[in-house]
Amino acid sequence: MEAPPSLGVPGWLDPYRANADKLIKAATADQSAWNRLAELTDTFGQRISGSDNLKRAIVWATDAMKRDGLENVHTERVMVPRWVRGQESIEMIEPPQHVLPMLGLGGSVGTPSAGVEADVMVVANGDELAKRSAEVKGKIVLFNVPYTNYGETVAYRSGGARMAAQHGAVAALVRSVGPTGLRTPHTGGMNYGDEPITRIPTAAITAEDSNRIQRLVNRGVRVRLRVKMAARFEPDVESFNVVGEIRGSEKPEEIVLVGGHFDSWDPGTGASDDGVGCMVTWEAARLMKKLNIRPKRTVRVVLFTNEENGLRGGNGYRDAHAQEAANHIFAVESDSGVFAPGRLGFSGSEAARALIADIGTLLAPLGLQDITSGGGGADIGPISTLGKVPMMAYSGDSTKYFTIHHTPADTVDRIEPQEVSRAAAALTAMIYVVADMPQALPK
Ligand SMILES: [Zn+2]
Repeated sequence: MEAPPSLGVPGWLDPYRANADKLIKAATADQSAWNRLAELTDTFGQRISGSDNLKRAIVWATDAMKRDGLENVHTERVMVPRWVRGQESIEMIEPPQHVLPMLGLGGSVGTPSAGVEADVMVVANGDELAKRSAEVKGKIVLFNVPYTNYGETVAYRSGGARMAAQHGAVAALVRSVGPTGLRTPHTGGMNYGDEPITRIPTAAITAEDSNRIQRLVNRGVRVRLRVKMAARFEPDVESFNVVGEIRGSEKPEEIVLVGGHFDSWDPGTGASDDGVGCMVTWEAARLMKKLNIRPKRTVRVVLFTNEENGLRGGNGYRDAHAQEAANHIFAVESDSGVFAPGRLGFSGSEAARALIADIGTLLAPLGLQDITSGGGGADIGPISTLGKVPMMAYSGDSTKYFTIHHTPADTVDRIEPQEVSRAAAALTAMIYVVADMPQALPK
């Protein structure tokens, strides 16, 4: 086929309209995807890497894919880190005694069993920390960095402990990375870097408590905290990516890869991050099977393990499939929630973008025809880099997403069934056309 024109009515889509419409109708006819998300999160709860919960959920997903009639259903083994939170607390010792909600950051070391007790020094950023370096020794440093956007603010969560330790702090706290919630602490990954520094314990406290401590310190009041954490690493354990397919009818070796990550952080039930991303991409294959629609290329669903604290699933997939990396013609990930207004983002060549924009016209009934730039995702990134694969992401409203992200509030209750169905419908129609169109999506 010649590269179709992207102006006017994209006539090349005519053979796909009926099936795309059927898939969209089936996805939005009921709340199957939400129901399955509720079953996953109710039954298995949090799914942190290395946990029995995750292991059991992987068995369940594998069985469910088989029951759906997906093909070539199997698991692919990777070794994953096992970080265990243990008991933890932060207590304000003065001015008044007060226990603060907190969450240790994933990867942190623990404290001695009596805890670490010290005065708090509050800084607004790394520059202030460096300027006031002489004051840091023996203190608990609190990075009270207001949330701007995730990419910017998360640097203090991932690197704050290392920065504070370089100046002699005994522990590092970060204001939770997210819009102000209901005094909800947010966990997330951190690392100590490669330089030989003292590994100090690190945790997140809420935006409200960060502000309170800031106000106290601004008034010249001494704030003293006791941090107790039993966090530790145990040896790596085996885990698995779950794979299921609709084999292509004409070019089964050409692959459209879709998925999300199946592991989660431990305070909530990993409903929005990223159970829902797994469900809406899995739906693409389930609905094609259910409606007996088999595209020319293979649609491969992968539920990746260990995105949150290691990316061993995404890297393991790349390593196991390096030989067929170039045969991946499109990769789609959902790991930013499905909160309305959702959108599809794309990264790839201009020629591919024109085709994707054409396909977007099929999504007009869902209000998702405008496809923005910015596809990609942590788990599809490694194979896509290797195979130069065009990528797509489904993203929900980021304020809603980051309000519950990595908190105890990440539960299915926050997610509307119609928003899940709409995401599944859009992804399914898009994936179907790309998997079935006459020419491979250009790289
Ligand atoms: Zn995620």
